[in-house]
Amino acid sequence: MQDKFKYILQIILLAGVYFVAAKFGLSLAFGVKQVTLVWPPTGIAIAALLLFDKKLWPGILLGAFFANITTNETFTTASQIAIGNTLEALTAWYFLNKLKFDKEFHHIEDIAKFIVWGAIVPTIVSATIGTLTLAFSGTIGWQVFHSTWLTWWLGDTTGAILFAPLILSFKDIKVFPFSFKKMFEFIALIASTSFTSILIFTGYISPTFSIYPTKYIVFPFMIWAALSFGVPGATWISLLISVISILGFKAGSGPFANLGNPEIGLTLLQLLMAVFSVTSTILAAALDERKRSEGKFKESETRFRALIENSYEAIILVDAKGTIVYTSPSVKRILGFTSAELENTNGFNLIHKDDKIRLAKILAELIVKPGKTVQVENKIVKKDGEVRWMEAVGTNLLQEEGVGAIVINFRDITDHKKLDETKSEFVSLAAHELRSPISNIRWYTESLLKTKPSKYLNEIYSSTLKMTSLINTLLTVNKVELGKLTYEPEKVDLVTIVKDITQNIKIEKNLPEKLEAFADPNLLRIILENLINNAVKYSPGDKKISINVKEVKEKIHIEVKDFGIGIPKNQQDKIFTKLFRADNVKKTFPDGTGLGLYLVKAVVDKLKGEIWFESEENKGTTFFVDLPKKII
Ligand code: ADP
Repeated sequence: MQDKFKYILQIILLAGVYFVAAKFGLSLAFGVKQVTLVWPPTGIAIAALLLFDKKLWPGILLGAFFANITTNETFTTASQIAIGNTLEALTAWYFLNKLKFDKEFHHIEDIAKFIVWGAIVPTIVSATIGTLTLAFSGTIGWQVFHSTWLTWWLGDTTGAILFAPLILSFKDIKVFPFSFKKMFEFIALIASTSFTSILIFTGYISPTFSIYPTKYIVFPFMIWAALSFGVPGATWISLLISVISILGFKAGSGPFANLGNPEIGLTLLQLLMAVFSVTSTILAAALDERKRSEGKFKESETRFRALIENSYEAIILVDAKGTIVYTSPSVKRILGFTSAELENTNGFNLIHKDDKIRLAKILAELIVKPGKTVQVENKIVKKDGEVRWMEAVGTNLLQEEGVGAIVINFRDITDHKKLDETKSEFVSLAAHELRSPISNIRWYTESLLKTKPSKYLNEIYSSTLKMTSLINTLLTVNKVELGKLTYEPEKVDLVTIVKDITQNIKIEKNLPEKLEAFADPNLLRIILENLINNAVKYSPGDKKISINVKEVKEKIHIEVKDFGIGIPKNQQDKIFTKLFRADNVKKTFPDGTGLGLYLVKAVVDKLKGEIWFESEENKGTTFFVDLPKKII
């Protein structure tokens, strides 16, 4: 109910505004009383439909009808003209909506859309229907049909161009909240534009001056309006100039009044007004667009700076040669050097000598891969000479416009590292301390078993063996983490090692006679023992397991295959992670640490080899290892 009431009220209001504007427009009529120099209602109608909705069209119909009927038109003529006016606005609405026109006029593109599809094309509808109505009813003779049509069309077009943007940009007008200076400027603009327009277009100030074709003098005022007050300013000043020039023309003065032929003068004046208005609005929109994009650019730069400068992490930008081109403020806190001390120096100067070669290699690899990111841990030397550990992430943005550098984010992880070291040292100490009591238990159990074998003693014995193996694993993991895993290569026969490990295991062996290599036998054992033990452990029942060892292209190739429970697909990517155990083993095989494969991977990496696997749940798993034959 309330909506309906609001709707009716809107229609009545629009009809009222349309009526008043039409009356004002008709007062500017020239020659034929229904055909006017400028027809503001067109602009008002289009703006109203764009701002509210097309459903307000009855307001246009009523307003136009009453405006015409009160100009002594017959009912039929008034209705037909009103229908023409309504269709004109609806056509404009349809085209502009289809073209996704932005009524804020922020882009030049929108002004162009409006001029063509909101002002030039739809007004053909009204001009044609209107002029035909006048000709058929005998109000005008057919001999003036084309000139009446042209005036009507130009009048509507100018009305649309002058008034619609004015109304649509109305809410952008900030004349009052302006500073005093701006207000003063606005008043000065209006005063000087009015004075100049009156001088040029009317005989009011100087009857002789207005005869000369000096209309271009108003251009600077339009530019001023566009520069200082944007689209709203440009439209207001255009309107001011138009009104003054029309009044001058009607009074028979100005550069167009004395051309001998009033019709030509009228058309030229209408064209001039349209050109003035279009030019100044386009200029204003172009400036607006630029200002806005500059603003956006500034905004994003400010945001970027704020992010970098307040970031706890330090950021350094280096070029392809490693020369520092930028350092964020946090760099001073972490390294002790100021930006000025670091910029234009070589970034490698900061790196500890132990890490220089490794990092130079990483940088060389990174440079050739645009967009790639690498993560490293390395030591640096601070300004005061202190050595600290950093964790750094470098991204190659050399090709990125506006960056053109390798961006390195880093943070100090020395405390973290120290804590890790303390933890590892503790584990190492505890494991070593546990070793001797366990050896004692093992030794005594072994002796007892020899004299008095029993089931319980056997259990104790196998538990001590497990514990010894666990302690050894812990110690090796510790060594890996402290970077202390020793490597003592010697001439070995891999086949002998495999045979030794699988002595008491039921496993199918496909081995060559001999496979000699130059490697650390202890590390080879870690790999083989873990893979074979897993294959046995995770193949319950008497399922077949096999080991395949051969030499392929100067490389040792090992395959350990089982037909056991397999590894779930969705967890396969985590299988080499420390302490990881898949869901399908946790309940059924509670014995396990999740350290075996982590260790195997670390050892394979140390030996510069490769490890991968294929696995399917409940079907089985195969681990593959490739190692260089000669590992130095
Ligand atoms: P765990 O002590 O649990 O055996 P590992 O590091 O040796 O630790 O293995 C990690 C996890 O990988 C295991 O818990 C298991 O889920 C899975 N896994 C390893 N080898 C196999 C295999 N041959 N068959 C099935 N699952 C396996």
